[in-house]
Amino acid sequence: MSDALLKFVTVAKSMPTKRSPDKRRADFGEIYDDFVPGKATEQASRCSQCGIPYCQIHCPLQNNIPDWLMLTAQGRMQEAYEAASATNNMPEICGRICPQDRLCEGNCVIEQAGHGTVTIGAVERHITDTAWDNGWITPVKPPRELTASVGIVGAGPGGLAAAEQLRRKGYKVDIYDRYDRAGGLLVYGIPSFKLEKEIVMRREQLLRESGVTFHLGFEVGRDETLEELRQKHDAMLIATGVYQARDVAVPGIGLGNIVPALDYLVASNRVGLGDSVPEFENGDLDADAKHVVVIGGGDTAMDCVRTAVRQGAKSVKCLYRRDRGNMPGSMREVSHAEEEGVEFVWLSAPEAFLGDDVVSGVRAHRMRLGAPDASGRQTPEAIENSSFTLDCDLAIKALGFDPEDVPTLFGTPTLQVSQWGTIRVDWRTMMTSLEGVFAAGDIVRGASLVVWAIHDARDAAENIDRYIVAKAAGADASAEAAE
Ligand SMILES: Cc1cc2nc3c(=O)[nH]c(=O)nc-3n(C[C@H](O)[C@H](O)[C@H](O)COP(=O)(O)OP(=O)(O)OC[C@H]3O[C@@H](n4cnc5c(N)ncnc54)[C@H](O)[C@@H]3O)c2cc1C
Ligand code: SF4
Repeated sequence: MSDALLKFVTVAKSMPTKRSPDKRRADFGEIYDDFVPGKATEQASRCSQCGIPYCQIHCPLQNNIPDWLMLTAQGRMQEAYEAASATNNMPEICGRICPQDRLCEGNCVIEQAGHGTVTIGAVERHITDTAWDNGWITPVKPPRELTASVGIVGAGPGGLAAAEQLRRKGYKVDIYDRYDRAGGLLVYGIPSFKLEKEIVMRREQLLRESGVTFHLGFEVGRDETLEELRQKHDAMLIATGVYQARDVAVPGIGLGNIVPALDYLVASNRVGLGDSVPEFENGDLDADAKHVVVIGGGDTAMDCVRTAVRQGAKSVKCLYRRDRGNMPGSMREVSHAEEEGVEFVWLSAPEAFLGDDVVSGVRAHRMRLGAPDASGRQTPEAIENSSFTLDCDLAIKALGFDPEDVPTLFGTPTLQVSQWGTIRVDWRTMMTSLEGVFAAGDIVRGASLVVWAIHDARDAAENIDRYIVAKAAGADASAEAAE
């Protein structure tokens, strides 16, 4: 048994049935967080510096991984940090939460040769944590302050990365977010056992010290329209993410204790941050001593099952309509969940929720994978007379997210969206159908990853700069022509 698992089992066995939120927090850290700094050098030294850097090619940010691994192996940590931060605004966050098994590490040549990947994410995190500890990360000081300003809607990883890039060029930057804290899903979606909230808040503080102005609790569409904000800024960036939870239409869906995944995770994260959350305190959004069934097979579902384990659930089952090989979530997360005692019920879908006022069971049926659909993915089909019932006091729906109706919410019907509701951009410029309004992150791609939000935000910031410079040059030329 691994040390991490041993630690988990020991903690689990010593768990009292009802624990205070503080006690729960103390009981369960990230049990796989067993990275020892000395290992960074050891791991970095394993890199073979192969001719074609497949890890770098498969990192959305094209991070220069071989270089910073070599610098780490040589103990040149400050230079390693400079290399790591040249392409990434939050390497310590990506190092913690990127699904490395699908990206850089999954393509490491040593992994492909069957010797186990270089733990790239853990080294990236160690490099940047070291930089923070040594005071190498300092507020942005642009070479000169510009008069032009950019308004950013959304303080998730996309909005924060763009803000930093634009401040580096000297723009005034205002970020508007409807939440009371910056960070978007980094704070309210991803659980703290994967990403400690202080890590995100430290980034927010750095941006404040860099001159970025935050307007929190400010909902665009409610507090001001997009058009009103456009009048205040030379360019706008929309980085609002996707928040419309998908639902399942089966009998009994209206019963109590059937909740959307994000409600459950936001409550858990707020409790962890010390907020008072009545729906958690009254037990509605607390899995403690409950039979929990999570429906879905993505990373959000994995976060829900692992959170429920930490809250002291009696049992946690994950119901997914495809099989393990076809699951969208990271395999690493699935293994972690299994080690923690989560039971996966593959090839199964809910048929009905049972109970009087509140749910007491989920009736499900077995599925088989049929013919491939247009995307080539096999379509799940229900198997007749295969019903079975699971005990359930709390059902969590983790079926994915779609975009909200942004044009209506923002009061801007001319903002063009795709058939899926994502904001349309010209990928060469990241500009939307509205002049001077750009977009990045999940609201453009659909539900994706933090590293892609950072990638798109950096791209958008570059294009916003080009747009403002070109506009100013055009204005100068017109003024000269008029003289
Ligand atoms: C539960 C969960 C777990 C995840 N785990 C991982 C993971 O482990 N690794 C990974 O790489 N990715 C993960 N993801 C995906 C990742 O979080 C997103 O891809 C990423 O956060 C997208 O960044 P963003 O900046 O586009 O949007 P968000 O992070 O969603 O930020 C958007 C911000 O816009 C604000 N906003 C929205 N509408 C308005 C408005 N009208 N006015 C003002 N503000 C507004 C929101 O309040 C929010 O703060 C996870 C997602 C979820 C839901
Ligand atoms: S940003 Fe993500 S994919 Fe890129 S090197 Fe870091 S952990 Fe790997």
